[in-house]
Amino acid sequence: MSEIRFQSIAMHKALSKVIPGGVNSPVRSCKAVGVCPLIAVKGSGALLYDLDGNEYIDYCGSWGALMHGHAHPDVIQVIKDTAERGTSFGISTPLEEQLAAAVIKLMPSIQKIRFVSTGTEATMSAVRLARGFTGRDLIVKFDGHYHGHADFFLIQAGSGALDLEGTPASQGIPKEFVKNTICLPFNDLEALQQLFAHEEIRERLAAVILEPIAGNMGVVPADKAWMHVLRDLTAKNGTLLIFDEVMTGFRVAKGGAQSLYGIVPDLTCLGKIVGGGLPAAAFGGRAEIMDRLAPLGPVYQAGTLSGNPLAMAAGIKALELLDAPGFYEELEKKTKRLVDPIQKLIAQESLPYCIQSVGSMLTLFVGASQVTNAQEARGLDAEGFSHLFQKLLNLGIYIPPLQQEAWFVSMAHTGEQLDRTAECVIEILSSVCYAGR
Ligand code: PMP
Repeated sequence: MSEIRFQSIAMHKALSKVIPGGVNSPVRSCKAVGVCPLIAVKGSGALLYDLDGNEYIDYCGSWGALMHGHAHPDVIQVIKDTAERGTSFGISTPLEEQLAAAVIKLMPSIQKIRFVSTGTEATMSAVRLARGFTGRDLIVKFDGHYHGHADFFLIQAGSGALDLEGTPASQGIPKEFVKNTICLPFNDLEALQQLFAHEEIRERLAAVILEPIAGNMGVVPADKAWMHVLRDLTAKNGTLLIFDEVMTGFRVAKGGAQSLYGIVPDLTCLGKIVGGGLPAAAFGGRAEIMDRLAPLGPVYQAGTLSGNPLAMAAGIKALELLDAPGFYEELEKKTKRLVDPIQKLIAQESLPYCIQSVGSMLTLFVGASQVTNAQEARGLDAEGFSHLFQKLLNLGIYIPPLQQEAWFVSMAHTGEQLDRTAECVIEILSSVCYAGR
């Protein structure tokens, strides 16, 4: 494995002249780990190749979109076949019906669905629909959860349920734009109960949105009992419960996180896997809510490229592949093959790390024995993670360049690649810890 990345460095410089930070999405900049970002030129299965010809085992998988690995031949074939007949019409196609039916079959809480192009559009539109349906203004999100970059989601630190005026302006926009968002600590029963006990606020709550298994502060699942309380409180109050399953949908189980928790949300947002590696996302739920959308209802929502035929075709193929018998059992076996030996070492040696995983998404946290909320996720060992990332990169293993993210195992990862990764991680963890003793 070569560590040489001269051409990538030069290209990053060229990109930086014309694109802010040289990237079209900030986390790609590798700022948190202090290295020059990767410049990708090719992917095949679980492998990724950079501009300098270096090969990496990829655990980012386009941030979870690539359930079947890079350039899966069946997915590529349907994209090619579809492209030959035209790339976009701005008119409905039979492919939209096919993908809608496939999603509805796997996620029965969705009776009707609308396709959009990005996860941000899906969550943004779901919130608009919830406001239109309930006639209420406030939305609740949880600290550390990411729902895309619409203004009203850009709020980070938990401000406390009742502190409406004090919601902190965050992430570069003035406070007024997040005034109608309440940000609560995740997995905190008291905060939830306090919120719904407040009569004035309660009557204004249009929706609660959450990642049922958070992936954007690293993998942090919701506590089951807490989740059921949340479902009860929202249902009793006429507040819509929106599951943002952009990351967990078809990832943690065929039926998403909702199937694992046994919860029926009012609306679900999907992205990543549903587009098979192309730009597609969706939101859907009960027909009575979805039918409030234009043209049937007054809630406006639209998109030039929504339901794009290439993305629909790739999504249909991706869902068809994961619907095969034994698919999730096999994927979980693969994930365990990576996770188990590392976890064994951590336990045996009482190392200051932990792995949290659900299905085929996982995070190796540095400097914590457990992470249950955003506050704990902020207190991790950033330097330790940076060291781990750099060492792995030099060994030809690419993990997401931020600790508060999920690693993704795909069906394309081979036993050999998973074993090699586990060995490399174990070697790095051992050497750091023994050096420190
Ligand atoms: N919701 C969740 C849970 C996500 O993980 C993401 C993206 N990582 C989004 C929404 C936003 O999706 P997109 O980047 O496609 O806009």
